[in-house]
Amino acid sequence: MSSDFISTPLQFLKGVGPRKAADLKRAGLVTVEDLLYRLPFRYEDRSRMQPIASLRPGQKAAVLGEVTSANLAVTRRRGFKIFHAVVSDASGAIRCTWMNQPYLADVLKPHLQIVVFGDVKLDSSGLHFLNAEFEVVSDDLLRLHMGRIVPFYERAGTVTPNMQRKLVRTALDLLPQDIADPLPAVVRERQQLVPRREAIEHTHFPPNEASVDSLNRFRTPAQRRLIFEEFFLFQVGHAWRRHAASAELKPHVVVVDDRVRASAAKILPFKLTPGQRTSVKEIVDDLRRPQPMHRLLQGDVGAGKTIVALLAAIVAMENGLQVAFMAPTEILAGQHYGTIARLLSQSRFRVDLLTGSTPELRKHTLSAHIERGSTNLIVGTHALVQEKVKFHKLGLVVIDEQHRFGVAQRASLRAKGLRPDVLLMTATPIPRTLALTDYSELDVSQIPDLPPGRKPIRTWVKPESRRDEVYQLIRDQLDAGRQAYVIYPLVEESEKIDLKSATAMADHLQVEVFPAYRVALLHGRMKQEAKDRVMHAFAAGQIHILVSTTVVEVGMDVPNASIMVVEHAERFGLSQLHQLRGRVGRGQWDSHCVLLYQAPWTDDARERLKAIAATTDGFAIAERDLELRGPGDFFGTRQSGLPRLRTGDLVRDRDVMEVAHGEARGLVEGGGLTPELQEFVEHRWEKQFGLIEVG
Ligand code: ADP
Ligand code: MG
Repeated sequence: MSSDFISTPLQFLKGVGPRKAADLKRAGLVTVEDLLYRLPFRYEDRSRMQPIASLRPGQKAAVLGEVTSANLAVTRRRGFKIFHAVVSDASGAIRCTWMNQPYLADVLKPHLQIVVFGDVKLDSSGLHFLNAEFEVVSDDLLRLHMGRIVPFYERAGTVTPNMQRKLVRTALDLLPQDIADPLPAVVRERQQLVPRREAIEHTHFPPNEASVDSLNRFRTPAQRRLIFEEFFLFQVGHAWRRHAASAELKPHVVVVDDRVRASAAKILPFKLTPGQRTSVKEIVDDLRRPQPMHRLLQGDVGAGKTIVALLAAIVAMENGLQVAFMAPTEILAGQHYGTIARLLSQSRFRVDLLTGSTPELRKHTLSAHIERGSTNLIVGTHALVQEKVKFHKLGLVVIDEQHRFGVAQRASLRAKGLRPDVLLMTATPIPRTLALTDYSELDVSQIPDLPPGRKPIRTWVKPESRRDEVYQLIRDQLDAGRQAYVIYPLVEESEKIDLKSATAMADHLQVEVFPAYRVALLHGRMKQEAKDRVMHAFAAGQIHILVSTTVVEVGMDVPNASIMVVEHAERFGLSQLHQLRGRVGRGQWDSHCVLLYQAPWTDDARERLKAIAATTDGFAIAERDLELRGPGDFFGTRQSGLPRLRTGDLVRDRDVMEVAHGEARGLVEGGGLTPELQEFVEHRWEKQFGLIEVG
């Protein structure tokens, strides 16, 4: 066999005919490598079969014996069937019982040799196995399936776990000792990695002294090595593209001198927090570099990202460049416009707002201003750069509350011949592991601290039956001069129903509960002007209770609002609840967030509400959310920048990703990319990780 045996199609393996090859292919297994990198998902220690006579209640055990009797009993409960078998070895016999699996009568016939694996239970008639796992043992399987630590594979279509176990053994027996290793020797040594060949062998067929516990946690050196390999290859692709992008140059130069600094200092309404100061410095350093900035600014809700972006904007504008400031919703764009226009009112810079609902005529006028360069800073929704707007000299794009600056936006900028600095801002803390996958090519700045004087938010989880107390809590706040949010979920499938209940609730609160206060409704289906009117009235304190769907989730800033009630809190995701809660606690008062849930709640919902009540640390919440939901759901439908992985798990193996990221960047930036890796990155990376081109 040549050294590229590993890329041989599986159909050339002994025992794989055309039909089996087709089955394997359907399960995504085409080459020997595909097979070898489809790792066992769990392991069982069958290295020691226990004599039946030595079994003790409560232990987990494997026994090998002969089926000496078997019968299927039908219970009085209609249709409920119990299959009994007795398994005997030289030392004794034990009962085995399986509930509601009548087909076992055809499988476990007397005289068969079987391995039974499971918990040993004790009942009034003695020891037995209940619903234990079992395998019928034939001679040629003996070597693989018992008397050792046995790997278990997820069933893949018609490819059974046993079949895979056998195939893997066949392939391993043919796999040359000196297979090529994609990992550079320096990395292998530094990380003390097991050789590739050994890692593959020991991941599938661990030596008997391996710890089954470590194996099941994917912590053995062999498993870690294969996971590292995958993560490293993934990170090398990112590092390489990041490196390649740094060859691009901006069409403009930015200088920061005393005049620029003075101009920025003049608009500053408060003292920056240390986190803000560091972020500003990192961003401004980027602006001065010849390569376009591609930076993510992370800071929890209320951390004060807007001012950081605005300071960057001043630097750009002082250098004669235009700035586009984009928000995900018109409400937010309007709010940013208000804030920025106010802060820049004493400056010589002109700020405009352009959104989907800007009247046509006004749009034309604005477009002319932007094209001529008389508008210095334009605030809009994310569609801004995609619209037909032509910029005079676009230098900086700020994108608020969006996780990623998509392929489409980037392409449309390039199409306009633009290569601006890009600053993304997000308040959804991105767990480090995901930051290392989806955002691996970005630089990241963090604002870990909140501005001084913020009062902690008290979070209450209450059942529907305590609604009256909740109303009292709202009333206390309103009587003290504060304002309240009442949030309704808006799930797409039941949008109409939810809208109805939100509307009904607004009426109910107004007429029956809080007749002395003003209640208003805000939802996504309202006309823009109507939304604006409500928002402004709430911000101005003319509305006391805002009943809203989740449109307020991002960015709204009304410091006088000190209480939020989330209806049907059990329906919200963890990060979403965190975002919502961030709408209160923005002023100098103690704030409350009440999560009202409707019983019965699921275990998941209970976990979520418990987690959100336990902490206000956005990063802790994001990590927990990632654990509860898994990486795919974490971003919901908003993103799809996650790699297709075959050995590693983004949550379980996050520490490995961290190390792989560092090694890959170090290698690429240090010019150490081997020709093999170069070839991989250019021609096979995309296919292996199944990503759409990021940025
Ligand atoms: P976010 O990071 O959620 O976008 P904002 O930029 O909206 O936060 O800021 C939240 C509030 O905190 C605003 O009212 C802002 O004026 C205020 N703020 C921001 N930074 C500071 C600071 N360093 N000192 C005092 N208040 C600040
Ligand atoms: Mg914000």
